[in-house]
Amino acid sequence: MSPSSPDYSKGAAYMNGIYVPISEAKIPVGDWGFTHSDVTYDVVHVTDGGFFRLEDHLDRFHRSLEGYRLDPGVTRDEMRTILGKVVALSGLKDAFVAMVSTRGVPRVYGSRDPADCDNTFIAYAVPWVDVIKPDVQERGAHLLVAQVPRISQNSLDPTLKNYMWRDFTRGMFEAKDKGFDTAILLDSEGYLTEGAGFNVFIVKDNKVTTPDRGALRGITRLAVLDLCPELGLEPVVGPITFEDLMDADEVFTTTTAGGVMPCARVNERIYGNDRPGPISAKLKETYWRKHKEGWHMTPVNYADADN
Ligand code: PLP
Repeated sequence: MSPSSPDYSKGAAYMNGIYVPISEAKIPVGDWGFTHSDVTYDVVHVTDGGFFRLEDHLDRFHRSLEGYRLDPGVTRDEMRTILGKVVALSGLKDAFVAMVSTRGVPRVYGSRDPADCDNTFIAYAVPWVDVIKPDVQERGAHLLVAQVPRISQNSLDPTLKNYMWRDFTRGMFEAKDKGFDTAILLDSEGYLTEGAGFNVFIVKDNKVTTPDRGALRGITRLAVLDLCPELGLEPVVGPITFEDLMDADEVFTTTTAGGVMPCARVNERIYGNDRPGPISAKLKETYWRKHKEGWHMTPVNYADADN
């Protein structure tokens, strides 16, 4: 790096046409993404220099854009190129790569009409972090079913990725206050939904079940559903009650930011021997082993940093 060249070592971003170091990536305070949470996004991970299920993430991002009626004016091919370039610039081999579209700043000051905004496209690559710390994953996470219900899916479609985390944040404060690692939420009918940035699964006998409602269609969730048959497990997408959760043999969570993360406790219930259960551990091991074998991988072209 020459003295005058930008330092991308902590991450690189693309902001509406230009590439900048992550510390310089900023949005204006007048952007509706900030003032009204009018924004959608997706996050794909890079492991050992390859994107995992990039096309699935791009599919979901496009569904979210359509659901929010956002059009950042960037084609799917251009997005793929930009995502590759932010990773290449950062030089990171293990990274999170976010794609974001905000409503933008209204062209007419004070306008309440979303059509007055030019939608943005932002992308950035930052170093990998685990949503649940590795030592907690080792011992098995302790989850609290929080008092706050998940916001109604009639008001906020959870399958469109969003930053509206007020219910999750309340749940996480409650969980921390009560000595748990994190929270999971039920909907107002009492069915299990998800947690702050992760999907939830229960294991009972040979069945591996994840909620059919109130939750993002997680890409890691999809990977687990795909893996189950080859491990002799039956994948199920269906309703899960609080009683099902308490009666399960094992519980685990899934997210891009950590993969398959086994749990040891939910509320007062302790599963197995208070450690990650065997099926959760097997799914976790298989998920990461298949990464090493290049499963659903798209290699990053690091030479793009110079183009
Ligand atoms: N649920 C929510 C609310 C999320 O924000 C996320 C990821 O950020 C997930 C579930 C897990 O989805 P994925 O496996 O695609 O990361």
